[in-house]
Formats: sequence, structure tokens, C-alpha cells
Amino acid sequence: MPQLGADMAAVCATLHRRGGVDLVTGTGVAGLRGTGGVTGVELSDGRTLPADVVIVGIGAVPNTAWLAGSTLALHDGVLCDDGCVTALPQVVAVGDVARVGGSRAEHWTSATEQPRVAVANLLAGRTLRTARALPYFWSDQYGARIQFAGRRHDGDSVRIAEGELTEGAPAEGGFLALYERDGRTTAVLSVDRPRPFMRVRRELARGESRVQPAAL
Ligand SMILES: Cc1cc2nc3c(=O)[nH]c(=O)nc-3n(C[C@H](O)[C@H](O)[C@H](O)COP(=O)(O)OP(=O)(O)OC[C@H]3O[C@@H](n4cnc5c(N)ncnc54)[C@H](O)[C@@H]3O)c2cc1C
Repeated sequence: MPQLGADMAAVCATLHRRGGVDLVTGTGVAGLRGTGGVTGVELSDGRTLPADVVIVGIGAVPNTAWLAGSTLALHDGVLCDDGCVTALPQVVAVGDVARVGGSRAEHWTSATEQPRVAVANLLAGRTLRTARALPYFWSDQYGARIQFAGRRHDGDSVRIAEGELTEGAPAEGGFLALYERDGRTTAVLSVDRPRPFMRVRRELARGESRVQPAAL
């Protein structure tokens, strides 16, 4: 999982396994079996899994076909500056479809925070405010609240700053993990540790280069 990095993705995968889900990775889906209704899923490694219901979750493509031919620049979304403003100052874009300042975030937080900035800029007729907030997402899975904020890069080290892992899975009470590079905190992940998470998130948002574990 590129968002979390391999180590923490493996930890989150244990939530699925603990929840009784058989997580099959490293192979693709070659096809569906059945006539009239599905009876199995053929994997590209040759195995066939029995199935009577299939849910497909393979990502999303921004629906910009209806804008093709307009003067708006499109490239995996509607291209905007840091303030959600397109090449036309009277047109702004927000949420999943908007590539704001070079990146597109498919999260509720972006969809709810960007409109404030976009409308301010729309009314001003130019970009006064920016929406390049610290990336943040959360998800509730198997009764656990997973929260992530920051900009993780490959090669960042991961340190469990609070709580612990038991056999590679979140222990009772969850944990807080800090991603670090050159002594700086780049991102934070928590499972069931919302208060310290929000504190680190605020510090990251303020641009503090170092998060002191003692202050958590
Ligand atoms: C299964 C699932 C789970 C998710 N879980 C999480 C989560 O745990 N945490 C999180 O942060 N985010 C999650 N997300 C992402 C989150 O739902 C999206 O980031 C958010 O809904 C984006 O909001 P939006 O308003 O930009 O787009 P949308 O919610 O997609 O709304 C766009 C609307 O525009 C309409 N539309 C499209 N084209 C046209 C057109 N030409 N004319 C008129 N209307 C049009 C669509 O029908 C739709 O109603 C999840 C998404 C999915 C699919």
C-alpha cells in the first residue's frame, strides 16, 4: 500500500485477518466463472476461489469526459492551482475530480475543506487562499479507527511512538507510529489513538520539523 508503506500496510492487513478475512495479495483476477450468476473468481496464478457475490474495488478514474473540448486543462482530473482555481478564474474544482497544486486526493477531508478556499477565490476573481493542506485520511475498519496524516516517502523510517504491536498486529489500545527522515517527522499513523494523533497532525500542519515523543 503506497500510502502507508510496506511495514505499516502489513500491520493493517492483520486487522483484516483478525476479522476473519482471507487476504489474497500478489496475484490478479483473470476472470469470473459462472453462467447466469457468478460461481467463482479465477486468479492469474491459476487458482479459482468459490464466490457467489463479487465486489470490485479497483480505484476510480475522474469523470471529466464531459469537459473534453473545453478550455480547461485535464490530466487525471481538472488541473487547478493551489487554490482550486482552474485556468479560467471563474471556474474552480474541488474534491476527487480536482488536481490541486499537482496532486489529487480522494478523501472526504479534501472534499469538505477545499470548497471554502475555492469559493473565496471564486468571489475574489483570483487566487487569494490556498488549499494545499496536510494530506489526511481516516477509516474505520473492524472496530478500529485508522488515521494517517502527512507526506510519507519511500525510505522514511517508521517508529512506534506509543502503544505496541503484538505479533505484527495492533495491540489492545492501538498504537501511534511516526514516519521519520533525517530526524524530521514526515507523517503519522495511528490505530485507536485519536488524541495524540490529532496533536501530531496539528504539529505537522504547522510545519514543525521535529515532533518530540515526550510531548505526545
Ligand atoms: C467505497 C468507498 C469508501 C471510501 N472510504 C473513505 C474513507 O473511509 N475515508 C475517506 O476520507 N474517504 C473515503 N472515500 C472517498 C470519499 O468518499 C471521496 O473522497 C468523496 O466522496 C469525494 O467527494 P466528491 O464530492 O469530490 O465526489 P463524489 O462524492 O464522487 O460526488 C460527485 C458527484 O457528482 C456527480 N456527477 C459526476 N459527473 C456529473 C455530471 N456530469 N453532472 C452532474 N453530476 C455529476 C456524481 O454522481 C456524484 O454524485 C471512500 C470512497 C469510496 C468509493
